[in-house]
Amino acid sequence: MSVSSARATPAAPAVLRATYFDGRSARPQPVHIWLADGQLHVRGESWARSLPWQAVNWPERTRQGMRVAHLADGGLVQSEDSAAWDAWASSHGLREPLVVKMQQNWRWVMGSVVVLLGLVIAVQQWGLPLAARALVALTPPALETALGESTLTAVDRLIMQPSQLPVASQTRVRDAFAQALTHQPAGSVRPWQLVFRKSRLGPNALALPGGTIIMTDEMVTLVDGDTQVLSAVLAHELGHVQQRHGLRMLVQATVLGTLSAVVLGDFSSVLATVPALLGQAHYSRQAEREADAHAVKVLKAASLSPAVMVTLFDKLKARRAASQPKGQPASDAGSSGAWLGIAFSSHPSDAERVAFFQTAAR
Ligand SMILES: [Zn+2]
Repeated sequence: MSVSSARATPAAPAVLRATYFDGRSARPQPVHIWLADGQLHVRGESWARSLPWQAVNWPERTRQGMRVAHLADGGLVQSEDSAAWDAWASSHGLREPLVVKMQQNWRWVMGSVVVLLGLVIAVQQWGLPLAARALVALTPPALETALGESTLTAVDRLIMQPSQLPVASQTRVRDAFAQALTHQPAGSVRPWQLVFRKSRLGPNALALPGGTIIMTDEMVTLVDGDTQVLSAVLAHELGHVQQRHGLRMLVQATVLGTLSAVVLGDFSSVLATVPALLGQAHYSRQAEREADAHAVKVLKAASLSPAVMVTLFDKLKARRAASQPKGQPASDAGSSGAWLGIAFSSHPSDAERVAFFQTAAR
């Protein structure tokens, strides 16, 4: 017998041996069954019948046991060879709903829940950073430079004033850091430039997209112009430059802003708010750890002790304690506070970082 079915795969058994009961007697009858043209065809020894596919109550697949298809007129077709039945059913596209399959295996269900939860967490935790990383990799240096320049302009307008440090002092700091960097592998250092500003931020340093590092006059004054300490600070900021943290953060903030603009239907403000976004953003703890690790690498290569960083933390702490009225929580007032997210002295968990540099110094 030859039967063609458009839905049957060539290798699959299109015709299945089964047992038929007519619903009126208990007499089993050997039959062949097949599906064609939307009909179930049943052929016995001396008879044949067909009925619509939909008029058959197809068996749900259970783990094992007999497969029984109930027919609309009370008859039934059954097979004890469940594997053969399942293969035949599959070859005709008679697949159970996914739910049935899942119920067959609770591990499948548990697995699905775990995968779903994992996806939600992954998108929240890593989806945006990963997307930002990819976008950063695609950003041409010229655009990054332009972003850095516009950010510098915004920072200058909001919280900076021209430096009052003598040019000779600025040069001394810049040269000392450049000297420390000569111990880095050739070609491994991204372009950077150091500028000085007087600022309400107090002793601080910021790395902007494109490689511009701002150091405040107050930072230089705090450590009495100690170039070793200042090189350590700059090495940390250069770590942000090397990893393009500024651009990555900006991209993340912009992507977030753009997404919310899409959701809220307001695009007009997105581009105008880039500096503000940067001001509200902050480097992640991960970024800070990377920058600290970079600082240690640079210091050690230049035969400087990472312990100089501990000195800095002590001085910053002493200064904070001296400048805060008793009983008042530490905070920077006004718009300068918004910029502290990427500023050096605002980094969270000083204790962890002090321990890190102390360990590195041993
Ligand atoms: Zn930092």
